[in-house]
Amino acid sequence: MSERNTPPSAEIAVRFNKVSRHFGDVRAVDQVDLDIYDGEFFSMLGPSGSGKTTCLRLIAGFEQSTSGSIQLYGQDVTGLPPFLRDVNTVFQDYALFPHMTVGENVGYGLMVKGIAKSDRELQVKDMLEMVQLGGMEKRKPTQLSGGQRQRVALARALINRPRVLLLDEPLGALDLKLRQQMQLELKTIQHRVGITFIFVTHDQEEALTMSDRIAVFNQGKIEQIGTPAEIYEQPKTEFVAGFVGVSNIVRGDQARRVMGKDGNFAIRPEKIHIVPVESPAPENTFCAIGAIREVIYLGVNTRYVVDLDTGGELSVLEQNLAQDSMNVAAARGRKVQLIWQQSDCRLLQG
Ligand code: ATP
Repeated sequence: MSERNTPPSAEIAVRFNKVSRHFGDVRAVDQVDLDIYDGEFFSMLGPSGSGKTTCLRLIAGFEQSTSGSIQLYGQDVTGLPPFLRDVNTVFQDYALFPHMTVGENVGYGLMVKGIAKSDRELQVKDMLEMVQLGGMEKRKPTQLSGGQRQRVALARALINRPRVLLLDEPLGALDLKLRQQMQLELKTIQHRVGITFIFVTHDQEEALTMSDRIAVFNQGKIEQIGTPAEIYEQPKTEFVAGFVGVSNIVRGDQARRVMGKDGNFAIRPEKIHIVPVESPAPENTFCAIGAIREVIYLGVNTRYVVDLDTGGELSVLEQNLAQDSMNVAAARGRKVQLIWQQSDCRLLQG
C-alpha cells in the first residue's frame, strides 16, 4: 500500500511518483508515492532494511530510481546528479575533515563556491552560533565531543542554505541523554532556519518527538503517513500498531467473543484499565474478565499481562500513582476485570 496525505496549503518540496529502486531481486523501494511539504520536519521511520536510506539517497541523487519520477520544488530531478540538486545530507558518521578546523569544515562549501574569506568567516561565525558552538572555530574535530561534532556537521550542511536537508540517522552514534538533548535542539534549529528536514530513523520515540509528519516504512513500501499523534493513536495496519509503540492485537474468534465484532483490532495497553471483577462496566466500553499472569514493574508504570477467561491475553499498562505501587507484584494471580473505551479500538486494514 502507498498513499499521499491530504495536502496542506504549503508548497510541495519533494514528490515521489510511483518510485521504485530494485537491486536485483531486492525491492528496496517499491512503488512509493509521497509528498513532503516545504518547511516540514518529515521523518522516515522503519526497521532495518525497510528502504528509508535508499529513499533518502534517491532524493540526494546518490541513487537513481529503477522506475517512477522524483520532483524537487516542482522540478523533475529524476536522473540529475547530486550537485545539480538543491539538497544537502548530514550522515551518521559526520564525515568531517579531520585535518581542518571547525571553522574550515563549516566554511568548506562556501570556499568551493568562491565566497570571499571575510564574508565566509562572518557566515561561519553566525552558523556556529546557531548550533551553539560560538567561539569554537579554531578547534579540530578530535577536540570535540560526539554531540559537538554532530553540530559541526549540521552547520556545514546548513551554511549552503539548501532547500532540503537530508539527515540519515544523524543521532545514531550519541548516547541516550545527548541524543534526547540533540533531538530538541535539531527541532529548534529547523524552526529557526525554516528549511525542509527529512530525517531517517529506526527509533520510533525519536520520530514521534521531532516530526511534523512521519512515513512508516515496511519492506520498501510506506504503510502509513501522518502526524505523530495520528500514527500512534490511529495506526492503520498491524505493522504500524506494533512498530510504533506497543499494541494488543485482537483478532478472529477473540474479537468476536470479547467485542462482538469481526476484524483485527489494535488496543494500546495504556487504554485498558484494571478494575474489580464485580464493577459494572460503564457505557460505551468493552470489558473482559481474566487473571493477572505477569507483573512487570517499570518505575513510572507497571505492565500486566492478563490471561482472559475467554482465551488469549491482553497487556495492560497502568501508571504507578498509588502509594501501594511497591506491592504490584502481589497482584500476580488475581482475578480482575479489564475495561476500555470502544472508541480506543482501532480496526486494522488487511
Ligand atoms: P537501515 O536502517 O539498516 O539503514 P534502511 O531502511 O535504510 O535500513 P535501506 O538501506 O534503504 O534500508 O535498504 C533497503 C534494502 O535494499 C535492504 O534489503 C538492503 O540490503 C538493500 N540494498 C540497499 N542498497 C543496496 C545496494 N547498493 N545493493 C544491493 N542491495 C542494497
